[in-house]
Amino acid sequence: MAVFDDLIGQDQAVAVLSRAAAAAREVVEGGRGAGMTHAWLFTGPPGSGREPAARAFAAALLCPDGGCGHCDQCHQVMIGSHPDLESVRPQGLSYSVKQTRELILRAAGAPTQGRWRVILFEDADRATESAANALLKAIEEPPPRTVWLLCSPAPDDLVITIRSRCRVITLATPATEAVAHVLATRDSVPWETAHFAARAAQGHISRARALALDEGVRQRREAVLSIPRALTGVGECISAAERLVKTAEEEAAAATTALNESETTDLRRLYGEGSTGKGLNRGLVRGGAGALKELEDRQKSRATRIKRDSLDGALLELVSYYRDVLAMQFGARVELANDDLRFDLDQLARTSTPEETLRRIDAIMQCRERLDANVNPQIAVESMLLALRSG
Ligand SMILES: [Zn+2]
Repeated sequence: MAVFDDLIGQDQAVAVLSRAAAAAREVVEGGRGAGMTHAWLFTGPPGSGREPAARAFAAALLCPDGGCGHCDQCHQVMIGSHPDLESVRPQGLSYSVKQTRELILRAAGAPTQGRWRVILFEDADRATESAANALLKAIEEPPPRTVWLLCSPAPDDLVITIRSRCRVITLATPATEAVAHVLATRDSVPWETAHFAARAAQGHISRARALALDEGVRQRREAVLSIPRALTGVGECISAAERLVKTAEEEAAAATTALNESETTDLRRLYGEGSTGKGLNRGLVRGGAGALKELEDRQKSRATRIKRDSLDGALLELVSYYRDVLAMQFGARVELANDDLRFDLDQLARTSTPEETLRRIDAIMQCRERLDANVNPQIAVESMLLALRSG
């Protein structure tokens, strides 16, 4: 079906989902629909397209033609406005039990268009333990027309009780060639740029697209990958750490500022601010202050998350750099992610040992863990860069 066309290099998953969509259709038409499942878990490495795959499946369930890709239903699913599709994207670092309970209530409603009620839960691994327990109950006894689509990077990220009740769809990392092909044919990116971006993004489609189309993203990548050769002294390490952390902050600010403003304006308007009528309901005004505070908290938590994700992205970029160095040191015949920096890579490969490279990769992974445990970013990144310097 057309809605599955965008799932690059995922033939196996597409086959399973197509069969399930056909079974779902049978159910809607009053048949038995053997093979339809009410809870699905989409997993795969970052960039493999968990959310797009889940969304395509949602379209296949809600479209009368099984996901034609061009009717109103398909379109509404794609832009996220379909009344029977509830998209959940935890904005903070975790998803609370209160939010989960509200979601379960909404999920229980009958489908307005008579087909299915679909809940697409991105980053389901961010559900807190009590939220996961609430979720489990809902998945164990789903209303007859409710379908849960959970997404998480690895099946192990979810508690086993939930995982064991879901049908797991494992998405693969698409090959460089496939990603380049999509960029060149659908986004009209010149072939050379498409190949460069696909290689550098290592199968991460949206990252590849950003690299191919956004000069700012390319510049940030260059800045990050210039760090290894800049670590000539302790002072250089410290200022490089400052730069890295600051770039992540700027990226987060760029991503959140406009969004925050429009959300705040909407909320204020909702509570009557800016209207000229006299005698605004006092209860409403009080409720408005509480809601505004809640919104601010959510926005803060979202900014923290984006900042963290952005810094983590930079660290993964560095890992790919040292992995390339290691591949050269071992003479492995693999495709280099950072082929454009071959000269730098080669120099480092010749002047250091594989043991040093492994220790460096280790230092980056440790830094990621420390950031995950809420260590001050500047301190964590500084000590990582000092370790990268000494090797
Ligand atoms: Zn359709």
